[in-house]
Amino acid sequence: MCEKFSFIRRDVIGRSLCGREITALTIGNRRSPVLYAAAFHGMEWLNTLFMLSFAEECAEAFRDKASADGVNIFDLLQRRGVTIIPCVNPDGVEISLHGSGSCPRYKEQIDAITGDTSSWQANARGIDLNHNFNARFGGVKAHERELGINSPSPSRYGGKKPFSEPETIALRNFCIGYRPSSAIAFHSQGREIYCTFGDTPERAFVLANTFAVCSDYRVALPELAATGGGFKDWLIGYLRTPAITVETGLGKNPLPLGDYIPEYRRIRRALFRCLSV
Ligand SMILES: [Zn+2]
Repeated sequence: MCEKFSFIRRDVIGRSLCGREITALTIGNRRSPVLYAAAFHGMEWLNTLFMLSFAEECAEAFRDKASADGVNIFDLLQRRGVTIIPCVNPDGVEISLHGSGSCPRYKEQIDAITGDTSSWQANARGIDLNHNFNARFGGVKAHERELGINSPSPSRYGGKKPFSEPETIALRNFCIGYRPSSAIAFHSQGREIYCTFGDTPERAFVLANTFAVCSDYRVALPELAATGGGFKDWLIGYLRTPAITVETGLGKNPLPLGDYIPEYRRIRRALFRCLSV
């Protein structure tokens, strides 16, 4: 894609525990871009495909100075670009798809945590990245205790301290450096949108409602387990960035590959429209 569209800027914003690149693709103006980030969790790799499809569609519209779903992409992205981070947790995706052997350096540790990695969500040392951001971290730990999760786990263990993992540090540094004007974190599943965290900026609600109106997803209030420690939570709480979480697809994780095209069609209009909120 980067060869085909020479104007796409590709940055490696960090590396996973096993050394895999965490890539950011930017089209248009890099200052305060709209940020879309996906695959924080191992089983949620379908969102990586949604992000790549969207990046390609944006690049085509930008090159052709065309509109996409009523949005003049070239004008819009020249003023404020879009940065897409298709896969925040490449090790976790590999573990959920191909087992512990895909992370040789951590294989023993992964095997000690579970013999069945098909439901793996965390990074290679069993830290749930979306519980590792510095947002109400005390609440995250209290909730873990209620759930009986006290050590690295396939999901929902936030680590000993916030930003203990290279993947969350990469996102933190990128956001502090480039100050996204808004952000959407893509997870699965439920066809739901979460936008609240404490004193939530008005524009987060506008973003959530725009996404909902342009898809058939609904705005929901998070259950306790989903509150705190998340990327959206940190963006709202620390940087005051309007940010939402979108849970794509409906069914059971991992969503089947057959959902790729139909679900992308469901959300593509929302992806374009949210660029201009
Ligand atoms: Zn998730």
